[in-house]
Amino acid sequence: DLRLARISSAIRVIPNFPKPGILFQDITTLLLDTKAFKDTIDLFVERYKDKEISVVAGVEARGFIFGPPIALAIGAKFVPLRKPKKLPGKVISEEYSLEYGTDKIEMHVGAVEAGERALIVDDLIATGGTLGAAIRLLERVGVHVVECACVIELPELKGRERLGEKPLFVLVSGD
Ligand code: IMP
Repeated sequence: DLRLARISSAIRVIPNFPKPGILFQDITTLLLDTKAFKDTIDLFVERYKDKEISVVAGVEARGFIFGPPIALAIGAKFVPLRKPKKLPGKVISEEYSLEYGTDKIEMHVGAVEAGERALIVDDLIATGGTLGAAIRLLERVGVHVVECACVIELPELKGRERLGEKPLFVLVSGD
């Protein structure tokens, strides 16, 4: 698909951000390219429009950029999965491990119902810790996670392996 090359070149790579040695994939430049941004959303919509998905769950923060336009286009609701202590209502949370320590993501109780079919969206998968926690969070409340979708994968970090059997769909590779 010719659209993928344009998407890939619209993503800026910034060395040593946020720490020395990290090559940061910056999707803000993709958002500035109106064609590449639209192609990104279109590719996801083409894949998911006929999959009877009732909920798109977006991971803070950049899943909040790509998730809502996909949700609107496929007729699904959007549910934000947030960092701790951001959501005002009653939440359930799921912990995941980082290189040093742990982190958590949270979802409002009542945002989804058992039996719903979900797509989880984020900008990038690195180690897969974040998406793994998102899958567990939704499955704990009886939701069927159809697939995870990211714009970028860093395949060297083998994040797919942390998702178990759950399918992952990505547009471009970041290495
Ligand atoms: P993981 O949990 O190790 O897979 O890391 C994925 C999370 O970290 C996602 O929410 C990404 O937004 C963020 N992340 C990690 N590396 C990058 C990067 O190079 N660019 C943008 N986001 C990143």
